[in-house]
Amino acid sequence: MARTDFDAIVVGAGFAGLYMLYQLRDRGFRVKVYEAGSDIGGTWFWNRYPGARCDVESLEYSYQFSEELQQDWDWSERYATQPEILKYVNHVADRFDLRRDIQFNTHIAAVVFDEASRSWAVRTAAGENVTARYCIMATGCLSSTNLPDIKGRDRFKGGTYHTGNWPKIEPDFTGKRVGVIGTGSSAIQAIPVIAEQAAHLYVFQRTPSYAVPAYNGPYDLDYVKKRKENYADFRNAAKQTRSGILRPVNERNAAESSKAEREETFESRWQEGGLTFLGAFNDLLVDKGANDTAAEFVRRKIRETVKNPDVAELLSPKTVVGCKRMCVDTNYYRTYNRPNVTLFDVSSLPIDEITKKGIRRGGTQIELDEIIFATGFDAMTGALMKIDIRGRAGRRLRDKWAEGPKTYLGLAISGFPNFFIINGPGSPSVLANMMPAIEHHVEWIANCIDDVRQKEGECIEAESAAEEDWVAHTNAVAARTLFPSCNSWYLGANIPGKPRVFMPYLGFSNYLEKCQQVVDAGYEGFSVSGP
Ligand code: NAP
Repeated sequence: MARTDFDAIVVGAGFAGLYMLYQLRDRGFRVKVYEAGSDIGGTWFWNRYPGARCDVESLEYSYQFSEELQQDWDWSERYATQPEILKYVNHVADRFDLRRDIQFNTHIAAVVFDEASRSWAVRTAAGENVTARYCIMATGCLSSTNLPDIKGRDRFKGGTYHTGNWPKIEPDFTGKRVGVIGTGSSAIQAIPVIAEQAAHLYVFQRTPSYAVPAYNGPYDLDYVKKRKENYADFRNAAKQTRSGILRPVNERNAAESSKAEREETFESRWQEGGLTFLGAFNDLLVDKGANDTAAEFVRRKIRETVKNPDVAELLSPKTVVGCKRMCVDTNYYRTYNRPNVTLFDVSSLPIDEITKKGIRRGGTQIELDEIIFATGFDAMTGALMKIDIRGRAGRRLRDKWAEGPKTYLGLAISGFPNFFIINGPGSPSVLANMMPAIEHHVEWIANCIDDVRQKEGECIEAESAAEEDWVAHTNAVAARTLFPSCNSWYLGANIPGKPRVFMPYLGFSNYLEKCQQVVDAGYEGFSVSGP
């Protein structure tokens, strides 16, 4: 077997890349991690906008691979802030001595499979070249920012920001006229915080989002103690759910429940706060009629909160609730009662252009000091497509995926041997709690590489038929739901020209079972070849 510079290279040093490094190093592999940012953290390194915090509970949005780690670490709040999560990531990196194998400020330009040596040639944007037997992409699902091509975008003389690429030195919006374009999860977190600083905040909304209150606050110490006493049990119970989050979906259907029962259940989930609102009934994401009842419940909450009925109407989504990712908010709707906040509907009257001084809409200029693009990401495939990835016979991943991503289990790609994606399209990823999803993929990949080595194999590669079947299955599962019915980033519909394909796999517990079956059957759907 030809000697390579490394056994494996990992691209990305977020939660996924760090844990991949830990697992492979633990098994004695020589690993190098390349990270574009100047430090670790991935999503939590880049998304440092005001108000950024996780919308999965801290006790569940954390690693579980080390019992000592999860016992030692104390989360202060139900939903951790971005700085607290970054502190946690740094603690993990230091605790397990991970930094020494990470090279920062390094963009990977190309990864090319060489048939002769059966290895990957990796080239950085700075021209450094290394080789590795395995290539693992831990590039994140929401890491390639979407900066819409609005006329005059680069003309603006004030400050411009993207929530997903926020500067390390926090901008001060005190006394400023600030415009926010977009009203997804990031904007919904940032808007209430920026409104408290800015002289005036103008929100440019194309599509309103559904948001459930976070009811965030300091953790109750008794609750934390109970969790920690049986941490592993809680974690295992979460893996039996569709989303990898402990709170299960109610087995009742909204369509078969009385109006009073629906009202009571929605209200109690609403009072709990957070994303599990969508688990109030079993049929909310499969039955439009059932979904309408939940959607109307949220709209009523908006009308009850927002004093100006015209603004409340503009903020009320008409789409399927949960079809685009639901948002979790703190004071979002209430912020529109402030005299220094104005909402513009840019679906009925679009932005004409960005000018030197602000944003022109309907022939009127809104003068601004700062513009914030909260316009989301080229999700799931964007970061991979930026790299020139070539498999067997020089085939480009960009070409292979021209009509949409194709993977086996969201982990591997036919024609791309010894190449893995953590949380790739075709895996539960963004529809699951990302932390257990990451840990599962990392452990699966590390075990797989180890198994191949034990068998003295050189290459493991997804079979084309298995990949086709998996893509068809992923689509069939999604087609049984309401997910394909709206223009979400799950479908790539937020990026002009991107093929409309539902990318994540629905059902975390089923997926875990499937991946285990594949292993038990001797890596069914993969071919392993020797030297
Ligand atoms: P997003 O949900 O994709 O929202 C982007 C927003 O920008 C949408 O309102 C979109 O409108 C708008 N937009 C895009 N292009 C536009 C244009 N040309 N003109 C006007 N408006 C435009 O992005 P995000 O808010 O960054 O969130 C992305 C995902 O990141 C979330 O869904 C979530 O998974 C994750 N996230 C999680 C957290 C958390 O854990 N708390 C926080 C933030 C983000 P349209 O809807 O009309 O396209």
